Amino acid sequence: MTRDEQPGLPAEEILRRLDALRAADAPTHGGRVLSYVYDSGRAELDALAAAAIARVQPVNGLDPTVFTSVAAMERDLISFGRTVFHAPDAVGTLTSGGTESCILAVKAARDHAGVAPGAGSMVVPTTAHAAFLKAAKLLGVRAIRLSVDPETTTPTPESVAAAVCEDTFLLVASAPNYPTGALDPTAAFGRVALDRGIALHVDACLGGFALPWWGSDTEPWDFRVPGVTSLSADLHKYGYTPKGASLLLHSDRDRHRAQYFATTDWPGYPVVNPTLLGSRSASGVASSWAITGHLGVNGFASLVATTRLVADRLRTVIDEIDGLRVVASPVGPVFAVAADPDSEHPVDPHRWATAVDRRGFTLQMQPGFTQPDGSSLPPTTHLTITPVTATVADELVLACRNAADDVRGLRAASPPPALADLAHAFDSGAVSVDDVVGLPSAAVQQALIGAGIDPHDPDGELDMAAIIAAVQALPRPVTATMLTEFLAEFTNP
Ligand SMILES: *Cc1c(COP(=O)(O)O)cnc(C)c1O
Repeated sequence: MTRDEQPGLPAEEILRRLDALRAADAPTHGGRVLSYVYDSGRAELDALAAAAIARVQPVNGLDPTVFTSVAAMERDLISFGRTVFHAPDAVGTLTSGGTESCILAVKAARDHAGVAPGAGSMVVPTTAHAAFLKAAKLLGVRAIRLSVDPETTTPTPESVAAAVCEDTFLLVASAPNYPTGALDPTAAFGRVALDRGIALHVDACLGGFALPWWGSDTEPWDFRVPGVTSLSADLHKYGYTPKGASLLLHSDRDRHRAQYFATTDWPGYPVVNPTLLGSRSASGVASSWAITGHLGVNGFASLVATTRLVADRLRTVIDEIDGLRVVASPVGPVFAVAADPDSEHPVDPHRWATAVDRRGFTLQMQPGFTQPDGSSLPPTTHLTITPVTATVADELVLACRNAADDVRGLRAASPPPALADLAHAFDSGAVSVDDVVGLPSAAVQQALIGAGIDPHDPDGELDMAAIIAAVQALPRPVTATMLTEFLAEFTNP
């Protein structure tokens, strides 16, 4: 096809092609994928979200004084957040997702404290979401990575206080953390924050719309805890909204105002942006508004009750499987599974995930991690439980048990041979991180293809266990470079 001749296609044909593309995706519904997707199991919520999105499709959320529906819906969502997170005076913003909420929380805390880029630091447990590392990089904030106790996967209260430096303006606690589902000791964080006069962000991106109804045995983690200055909660996780919605709340108005970027210093319209984007879709606001309004507190409570039953059952089942254990004491709907070191027949969690996948359920592998204090967090497999999991629970329980039998006694997967060789070259000092990180993309691509990982091979099945083994074996910046190359090639012609 040349530039000046390109006939368009009929709409039906376009949609037929889209359907064909979608057919190759992982299933978003039905409980077969236990990460990425949060399925309420109630089709009417998806239909309601779609209808709400269609109604705001042409709207630009950039200026809520022109498109006042956006402001009206946002006000309702903030009111809902005030109720759910026990903060009658909280103020905030709807963002496009958890990462944006976390970045903005850091930006607001930094600017509220009057800290210049490059001058301040924040204390971030190793189990906090990587979005805070992204925020650190983008905003010129030093992340002080706080090692967690490998048993509880949360920091000890003393270690939080000890980590704070002269230039620290922010602490980050997770409710719960993504890797293991454990709840950080928010009250201890709060005491340190008050004592030092610094901010405390509670990252409830994951648990924000599940923990409030989890049960009275859950320790307080929201604005009830003295010292909490901001909180993020993703509507596109346990709020069951399509991707593109998260709520960021601040304890007071001045902190919220520090989140904004505003300027009149150009010849165009006055720019007043609460979020990272300029023009923005109103889809997330409208679909969240519709779903929270439709569910109400009672609807959330009932979906969480379903989730808790199946999450508790799965944790019990997996703890009873010889060779596996649930890591720490997760609170809420997500948890991680590791090999049981006390068993004579440990089950490698990634071999297990591969075997569970063969039996029809996709679980997420997480690499082992060496913390700054030298202690290790083991390789694990992550499970996100949603209400729909209840509909496949019996089959999933069986898959978990049988998969363990399939692989018990097998050693962990090795990296692809070429990457194992590369790991040896790093260990022996023959290659340094700088050698790889500075390479042009074509050279990195060749290394990937040499390792049997070809982003353009349509039949190339990714052996995730081998790739995660490579992440564990190689220096982390090297694997970040390789995975960047892979994904960039994969999404380019
Ligand atoms: C998902 C998640 C985030 C980031 O959210 P995105 O919506 O994926 O950008 C941040 N923190 C925690 C704990 C999360 O689970």
